[in-house]
Amino acid sequence: MASPRFVIQKHSARSLHYDFRLEAQGVLKSWAVPKGPSTNPQDKRLATRVEDHPLDWGDFEGVIAKGQYGAGPVIVWDRGTYRNQTRSKGKEIPLENGIERGHISVWLEGEKLQGGYALTLVAREKQERWILVKIKDEKADARRNPVSTQPESVISGRTIEEMESS
Ligand code: MN
Repeated sequence: MASPRFVIQKHSARSLHYDFRLEAQGVLKSWAVPKGPSTNPQDKRLATRVEDHPLDWGDFEGVIAKGQYGAGPVIVWDRGTYRNQTRSKGKEIPLENGIERGHISVWLEGEKLQGGYALTLVAREKQERWILVKIKDEKADARRNPVSTQPESVISGRTIEEMESS
């Protein structure tokens, strides 16, 4: 079986955020991360759980029209495959079970992001609030800051500003 995919879409809607999406159960499980992911394990990034998206949404970049939900430009900021490494009591469990239990761990093989990332549920309010952190491993790097130094799309090379003015 092919490895499941992940995608991170940079999306300038009412506010700028990065939609972090993991393929599972035939959909993209999704979180909106206002500050985007970090490669520094010291950083805790708020990740609000949002609705599952269809798999083919992960290839979308363009401008969502005014009046539509999420109106504004979208670029594919990073993508690749991931390996689930979510565990409970020492045993690997399916990603979707981890999401239900409030903790998942994945190994990303993206163009910009690699290595382990963990998502942990911290509050169930109107929306679930999770925290996204880089796991300490050989891919962790406190000096990198790809959100600011690599702002462009991995598909088209365009920035979100270029997409907006297209
Ligand atoms: Mn979004």
